[in-house]
Amino acid sequence: MLIKNSKRLVIKVGSALTAPGNSGCSSKHLKNIANFIQNCRRQDTQVILVSSGSVAAGRQWFTSKKPSKALKKAMAAAGQTDMMAVWGELLDMPLAQMLLTHADLCDRERYVSIKETIESLLDHGLLPIVNENDVVTSDELKVGDNDNLAAMTAAAVDADTLIMCTDVDGFYDKNPQSYSDAKLLQRVLEITPSIYSMATGSVSSTGTGGMLTKIEAAEKAMAYGIHTYIVNGFDSLSLELLSNGGNPGTHFLPNENPLSPAIHWMTHTVRECGEVIIEDGKSNFFGSGQMLTSEKMLEVNGQFSVGDSILVSSRDGKKVVKAKANYSSCLLNHIVQQQDVDSIEEQTPPQKYSLVSKEHLAVLES
Ligand code: GLU
Repeated sequence: MLIKNSKRLVIKVGSALTAPGNSGCSSKHLKNIANFIQNCRRQDTQVILVSSGSVAAGRQWFTSKKPSKALKKAMAAAGQTDMMAVWGELLDMPLAQMLLTHADLCDRERYVSIKETIESLLDHGLLPIVNENDVVTSDELKVGDNDNLAAMTAAAVDADTLIMCTDVDGFYDKNPQSYSDAKLLQRVLEITPSIYSMATGSVSSTGTGGMLTKIEAAEKAMAYGIHTYIVNGFDSLSLELLSNGGNPGTHFLPNENPLSPAIHWMTHTVRECGEVIIEDGKSNFFGSGQMLTSEKMLEVNGQFSVGDSILVSSRDGKKVVKAKANYSSCLLNHIVQQQDVDSIEEQTPPQKYSLVSKEHLAVLES
């Protein structure tokens, strides 16, 4: 897909670009990116910007060398306005700020609301600028890095392209900062364990991501049929080449059979709150019309309420389905214990409860 043929793209810009050094947000490396965004819009491509850097930009106001989590939230609050102001100076278009949390994206109603808001902004010519709402998130409730947030956003708004701007030329077979013989991969057709192993060890010095989170993001986006690029955001020629339809970095090709929106959301955005282990891992429960019922349960892990997302795995460790629980972990634990007692006393047959909702359910392959 050529960028000029893209209808809607998400571009993610990391903290190393927005807030280099320790002196707040700077326009130094952002002019090329701003030009790229303006070019895209002139070519009738709708753009959503995912911009990191609030924590790095806000750092200047705080003296602590090793800030606590609470202090980082304060930095994010201070740096976010700085970052929006810099984008405002560079971009000749109205901007709209959207601060999201993982909890927002995991709740179906809020997810739809995010999608609708972004669509309304785009329809009216505004540029949505997305970041994680670092002020209100906890470790359990945050996406944690803007690479994955950008991929989730791209799927939420049905983007056809995701561009992740970073400080290296693309994805290498090993860390180019440590190995001089590292080779740039121009195209990646599939995310395999070997791709993940090539990405380990590369972490961002300014933001929270690194190559690993970019690969996770690429996997999410490819599964939705989104063309994904990792490019060097410091290099103006990279972005120019991208605008002209070239590939200046690494192009991750979309899967030929993308997941449907609901299944993709369950699989790649929603995080499970707990797990139920079942006897039989065959993933044909729903395909064959069979129900995933309580007598198959062996164990319940974690604490969840009715409507929370859970993973159903088989005894041999296979992930069978991810779906919304019909019962709380407390009740399911009680049922498992009762079944054990009944089987010792040889009482038959156990009562069957349908474990998960068929409406929000993703059958997993692995
Ligand atoms: N939300 C963080 C910030 O704005 C950035 C996360 C990341 O570096 O990916 O500072």
